[in-house]
Amino acid sequence: MRLFLRRFSHARLYSRFFLLLSLFILTFIVLLAGCARETAVKPLPAENNEGQTGEEEKNKNGNDRESPEDDAASERADRPGEQIVAEEPAAFSPNELGQVMVLMYHEIGYPEGEWQRTPENFRRDLEILYENGYRAVNLLDLLHNNINLPAGTTPVVLTFDDSTRGQFHYHEGEDGAVLDPNSAIAILEEFNREHPDFGLAGTFYIFYPQPFRQQQHIAKKLAHLVEKGFEIGNHSYSHANLKGLDAAGIQQELAQNVAHTQSYLPGYEVLSLALPYGGYPRGDLARYVIEGTYAGASYRNEAVLLVGANPAPSPYDKDFNPHRLPRIRASEMNTQGVGLYDWLTYFEKHPEKRFVSDGNPATVTVPEHLAESIDREGLGDRILVTYKPGDL
Ligand SMILES: [Zn+2]
Repeated sequence: MRLFLRRFSHARLYSRFFLLLSLFILTFIVLLAGCARETAVKPLPAENNEGQTGEEEKNKNGNDRESPEDDAASERADRPGEQIVAEEPAAFSPNELGQVMVLMYHEIGYPEGEWQRTPENFRRDLEILYENGYRAVNLLDLLHNNINLPAGTTPVVLTFDDSTRGQFHYHEGEDGAVLDPNSAIAILEEFNREHPDFGLAGTFYIFYPQPFRQQQHIAKKLAHLVEKGFEIGNHSYSHANLKGLDAAGIQQELAQNVAHTQSYLPGYEVLSLALPYGGYPRGDLARYVIEGTYAGASYRNEAVLLVGANPAPSPYDKDFNPHRLPRIRASEMNTQGVGLYDWLTYFEKHPEKRFVSDGNPATVTVPEHLAESIDREGLGDRILVTYKPGDL
């Protein structure tokens, strides 16, 4: 609490400083505008190439934005038409430093259980997420700050462990293999047809020798996943608890998984790992979850997912650690207060904690008092936009 108060009082000081500085600069701009009306600054188009736009903006500003004061001041001075301070509507408070839920599913089937969601309940999850403004993004999009969502919406990452039968199943019909309409893939694709703006995304953490439990369809299923834009992740070769293995054992499990996936999908890059049983190797062995080699096969994981119980920090947050990303169980049984619906309720009560997109991939918009938590290097060419919620 003391920390919070201290941060808050700093925020008040900064905000007064910003306000004075902004007023001074705006006055200057207004005077200048009188002389040169034709030099209007256009708002950044939402679909624009991030890198180029950022570079142009940086050159135009003629500075490298080294401090929050510079950011806020030049932002307001250069693009008065985009001042979030003045335009922020009550229903839309962008916060790209808010938290993101990475949901963890296992089996889709009957009956409902702690690790099994029925098709009906899975559809309901998607419906409720959609209605509450969540939009599906892939894990690597989150990781690479490649979130391109409409203003006011929140990213959610869907992950599926264990390559179970109910996640992706074909019925053998007279006319060949037919996708089971109650399998996760069919449900996701159907939901996307009905709600194209929800997105079609998800990461499948598979293990071998028989992902999705139909030997004859492994190649077809993996190709389908990639073709539709889903991601394939590493869940070890044999669903081993990596915590109990030595360096060679960990590397064997992870490298063989990748080698097998690449035998079906030549050149496919497996870039993330979900730890079976959440087992993180201790001490020096921890580095082998990130990269290693076994029998000539190598792997490198940009992200390592835990079982966890919390939403993940924003990828722009200093606390964002891609090698220890927490996940939330998409379950309604034995959730101990930290399941999907517990967090949905939490974010309903605390909307200020939730990641809310500003709708512009070239900018990162956060309430002013959170600016100090930004990982500045992670911004890349994006422009930081700060605003004071509510009271201006
Ligand atoms: Zn597992």
